[in-house]
Amino acid sequence: MANNRIRLISYSVMVYMILAFSWWTLLLLTKNKDAFQARQELMINNYRMPGGGSPGTALEHSSAYQELEKKYRRQEYMIFGEALVFVATLFAGLWFIHQSYSREASANQQRRNFLLSITHELKSPISAIRLVLETLLKRSLPKEKADHFLKSALKENERLYELVENLLLSAKLETAYQPLMEEVDLASLVSELLSKSADRHPEASMSFHQISPAPLLMGDQSGWTSVVTNLLENAIKYADGKPSITVSLEGTANGAILSVADQGPGIPDAEKKRIFEKFYRIGSEETRRAKGTGLGLFIVNQIVKAHGGNIQVLNNQPRGTVFRIEIPVAKE
Ligand code: ADP
Repeated sequence: MANNRIRLISYSVMVYMILAFSWWTLLLLTKNKDAFQARQELMINNYRMPGGGSPGTALEHSSAYQELEKKYRRQEYMIFGEALVFVATLFAGLWFIHQSYSREASANQQRRNFLLSITHELKSPISAIRLVLETLLKRSLPKEKADHFLKSALKENERLYELVENLLLSAKLETAYQPLMEEVDLASLVSELLSKSADRHPEASMSFHQISPAPLLMGDQSGWTSVVTNLLENAIKYADGKPSITVSLEGTANGAILSVADQGPGIPDAEKKRIFEKFYRIGSEETRRAKGTGLGLFIVNQIVKAHGGNIQVLNNQPRGTVFRIEIPVAKE
């Protein structure tokens, strides 16, 4: 609200300045013309024709008159030029103000969306776990049923744990993240995380292709766990039918290439850069079905960068998205 008022005031000041400057320009042009005409009249009065007749074209051809006219034109151009530069500067200022207000408004909107979604994300597993505990406390259920309830509570607890991990990690990534340099076997890490994910999402079809052996990497095991987990969870979450995911790993001369491909709705080109921003989610909170906080890909990108790697978002064929990560082997 306050922002809108400031925006309105600055636009009004700019409009006032443009109007005032246009008025001053017109005034200067008129004054310049008046001065020229006054000097012209003075010259006519002072010009003496040898025969005593009217000065006419003889005066117009005299060097003094031509000098006066040149000066008048020069001043006119100068006034126009200055006016043009001033108006262009004002418009540039207006454009910068507009840009920074829009950025600020979108950042505020993202923060609001984040608060809404985080509240929801925290509330639902907490309520689910409470319900399970209350049920188990009130009723003595057969072991099979009790186990079923406990498993679902454990699943919710894991979701909660991952969410808190993501929150902590994203805070750390902005301040003091130094990747631990330990040996990471990406191939076994990926297959372990894939089988964990397959357990949690039996409806999803997942496959792992090791195109060529990838070298052992020096890096942060828990960081790479977050990268792979976030990409897998997104591929499952945003699938608009039965999720179908292919992960491939390839050893290269400089390190490895890890790709996570899905057959989901895909990501529009205009959004491909923005999805790595903190809290950024495509669409509005009202139209979005999938749960999330907008932190996942921010974390993925930051961790990849901290290891000197590079991430690309590509279109999968015939549909879906491919996240392709180039990971260099760290020099010791
Ligand atoms: P979150 O999933 O919590 O919203 P992310 O940072 O992980 O946040 O993702 C940002 C946005 O990118 C998501 O809101 C979603 O719209 C889009 N996105 C991410 N991964 C995929 C995917 N595999 N397919 C389609 N859209 C995706």
